[in-house]
Amino acid sequence: MNYCSHCGHAVERRVPPGDDRPRAVCSGCGAIHYENPRAVVGTLIEQHGRLLLCRRAIEPARGLWTPPSGFLELGESSPAGALRETREEAMAHAAIEGLFCHIDLPHIGQSYLFYRARLLAPDVAAGPESLEVAWFEPDGLPFGQLAFPVIHTALELWLADRRETRRAVHHGLLRWSGAGNRFDPANYVLEEHMALVLHPR
Ligand SMILES: [Zn+2]
Repeated sequence: MNYCSHCGHAVERRVPPGDDRPRAVCSGCGAIHYENPRAVVGTLIEQHGRLLLCRRAIEPARGLWTPPSGFLELGESSPAGALRETREEAMAHAAIEGLFCHIDLPHIGQSYLFYRARLLAPDVAAGPESLEVAWFEPDGLPFGQLAFPVIHTALELWLADRRETRRAVHHGLLRWSGAGNRFDPANYVLEEHMALVLHPR
């Protein structure tokens, strides 16, 4: 942010009185513009052992694969947002079964929440933001063509749960190494990983 959204004056970055970190502070009206992480919400939909993924039609990561997901909107719950994104990107009508993972990405100020969901109607199709949608076998997931490192992490957790024939709710912090390509999963490490095992699959 360079200009105040209230009065249009330039903002400067400084630590406001009583605060402990720099904020965008307006040089005109004095408004403090707090910037906080944003939530990205989506669904992991499994059917006959296969996982539903969408190939993105929009930047960033156009042409790469992701579960249906997008930014949470004001006024909606996280599960409702995940279902909305699923309708928009995969034309899929689904129901939430439970939280699958919550992964924090502090280097870009995002938190991802993926929910396990099941289809309520069999048909899926590419929405306006998808080039195509497809079902993937667990041993055929398109690693190497995934949209973001966090998607890589989420799908690896999903595969690990399958191998161990369990269901779990995961939390983790996906830490960028601070160097190297930000789109290469090899430059990330999952920290603070907690898995709450729900029951055998
Ligand atoms: Zn202002």
